[in-house]
Amino acid sequence: MLLWPLLLGAASPEHALESIGKAPFGRAGDQAVDVYTLTNAHGIEVRIMTYGAALVSIKTPDRTGRFQNIILGFDSVEPYVAGVPYFGATVGRYANRIAKGRFTLDGKSYQLPVNDGPNILHGGPRGFDKRIWTAQSQRTSRGQELRLTYVSAAGEEGFPGELTAHAVYRLSDDDTLAIEYSATTTAATPVNLANHAYFNLTGDPQHHTILEHSLRINAARFTPVDATLIPTGELRAVAGTPFDFREPHAVGSRIGANDEQLRFGRGYDHNWVLEPATGGDRMKLAAVLTDPQSGREVEVQTTEPGVQFYSGNFLDGKPVGGGGTVFPYRSALCLETQHFPDSPNQPGFPTTILRPGERYQETTLLTFRVRK
Ligand code: BGC
Repeated sequence: MLLWPLLLGAASPEHALESIGKAPFGRAGDQAVDVYTLTNAHGIEVRIMTYGAALVSIKTPDRTGRFQNIILGFDSVEPYVAGVPYFGATVGRYANRIAKGRFTLDGKSYQLPVNDGPNILHGGPRGFDKRIWTAQSQRTSRGQELRLTYVSAAGEEGFPGELTAHAVYRLSDDDTLAIEYSATTTAATPVNLANHAYFNLTGDPQHHTILEHSLRINAARFTPVDATLIPTGELRAVAGTPFDFREPHAVGSRIGANDEQLRFGRGYDHNWVLEPATGGDRMKLAAVLTDPQSGREVEVQTTEPGVQFYSGNFLDGKPVGGGGTVFPYRSALCLETQHFPDSPNQPGFPTTILRPGERYQETTLLTFRVRK
């Protein structure tokens, strides 16, 4: 008897809570978009909108206690609809590239719409980042939580099977934002979901690039690419190359090196092969990003086998979002935890095929800290 109210309190629906805010965020076509605000006991604030199940802002303190937004974003949905390169979004059905938009599965060939030179990128012209997700917020014993759902019809952007995808964001008082993806399907399909937040830990992307951020990536190998950024299939050792981030390095310290892979990526735009956790745990360290100036630090852990580190090479100071807002060259970087690019065409890579009766499940943890 006594347990009843406790259990209800641990997972009560949003109307019982004041601490998770919900507000209108504008319109995408004829559909209303909402933004949700999660706040933890230390004042860390995370905002997520229903368009693209996207992170809109993450406010964390610097070493003086000043809270600033550490990801690129806008104050309403309209700029996103006008066009931004996946700011904060949940990208899918297949994050990253599939060569020429083609793959064969169970003897059947599929042609997906290409939107990145000869290849398909981030699920096609209208991927999950451009869809409106349904949302439900609740407080759990593990933190404030927003659960978003999107049902992708069979044949959408050329992919087989109806895919029901969930993205859960949970902010806890240990200053960790958990991003949990899960999905089920009615027919075999490739699935690869990833968050596409652009970090600039200075809180001021207009005036500071990310070239002085220090980055550590827990990977001894990466997947080199061709000139269209499709992996060659090789897992290449990072030792002795500008891709070695096993010890922390400033992002900008080797980005201009005379290196074919850096030329192909116009900087860093590659997938690193994460080292497995000891003891067979699925959750492992992926990366640590530190801004020496503000002291802000983000540690990334994930169940995923890879992380795409993209150094904002296509942020070029041209207006984005339909207005006058510009984000200078390399004013933000992405750490996209995910399966390797083009896995449906790479038998040597971990599989991304989900079949009926199976459940896709991947978690990424972002922990926010301050270095004194
Ligand atoms: C890709 C980049 C691309 C960016 C934005 C990243 O995931 O690897 O090549 O420019 O997304 O579209």
